[in-house]
Amino acid sequence: MTENAIEIRGLAKTYASAKGSPAKHALKGIDLNIAKGSIFGLLGPNGAGKSTLINILAGLVIKSEGSVRIWGFDQDENPRQSRAAIGVMPQELNLDPFFSPRGALEVQAGLYGVPKSERKSDEILELVGLSDKAHSYARTLSGGMRRRLLLAKALVHSPNILVLDEPTAGVDIELRQMLWRNVRRLNQEQGMTIILTTHYLEEAEEMCDEIAIINQGSLVTQNSTQTLLSQIDGKSMVIHSVEPITDCPQHPKISTSLRKDGSLVLTYNMSDITADEVLEFARAQNIKIKDVKTEQADLEDVFLSLTKST
Ligand code: ADP
Ligand code: MG
Repeated sequence: MTENAIEIRGLAKTYASAKGSPAKHALKGIDLNIAKGSIFGLLGPNGAGKSTLINILAGLVIKSEGSVRIWGFDQDENPRQSRAAIGVMPQELNLDPFFSPRGALEVQAGLYGVPKSERKSDEILELVGLSDKAHSYARTLSGGMRRRLLLAKALVHSPNILVLDEPTAGVDIELRQMLWRNVRRLNQEQGMTIILTTHYLEEAEEMCDEIAIINQGSLVTQNSTQTLLSQIDGKSMVIHSVEPITDCPQHPKISTSLRKDGSLVLTYNMSDITADEVLEFARAQNIKIKDVKTEQADLEDVFLSLTKST
């Protein structure tokens, strides 16, 4: 038995052209393994192909080329088993307005062939905090509640893998925290493999064990979050002086800039120059230093440097 929850080989998707416009190559040959039990982040700018990839996993979009194995089952050879292994919370709010949350879960369970005796609708509603809305029409639910219902629907067949497509885009902080609490619990208590896309790099940094970045339909990098972060060599030293600094001093190994508050920012690579030398340089400018702090570059910097269009 493989240790990978997902194995993707040579995955390509071309959307047929609309009138007059060329065909869209949304995915251009992606190879990707996602380990069982991980919380995996799929990052990339808008239009990168994240939803296309996720919708292919979910069986909602038909791939053009390549192979997808889900929990060891080839999607084409064993469509039923591969579908049963995965639950997807889509990016779009596509709910039937005339079903209550409980009704929607029962229908979904029926679609997945979950026998009545094994259904856990009430337990799932409890988990996502919708118990008191169990019998309200979906159309009367707030945006946040609809999102929670989408999460609930993804869980009815107790999938091994839970996929969340931008689950926290545009939701308030409270709901975001609730979603993350649930996701962590499912991962830790049930060993569920979690795959998510997010725009919030901070969130990916905090939540994910492993991260893949895609851009324009191609995989840019895949690594553990720790390794990705440790690859970042850049640091900034922010210097506040007794008097506001007005001139930007020049140095071949340091890029300098001024902030509105009169502080000087010295950005450098740790492999090029030591912090001591940077500080020495600042002193040599006759700056009366009041305060110094350093800022570590973060995932945002990696992301920007890797997805810069070429
Ligand atoms: P992401 O989720 O990373 O923002 P998508 O997978 O939604 O990216 O889209 C990738 C590219 O494919 C985009 O250029 C988008 O316009 C295009 N695309 C997505 N869905 C369709 C579709 N149904 N028909 C044609 N083009 C599409
Ligand atoms: Mg998307």
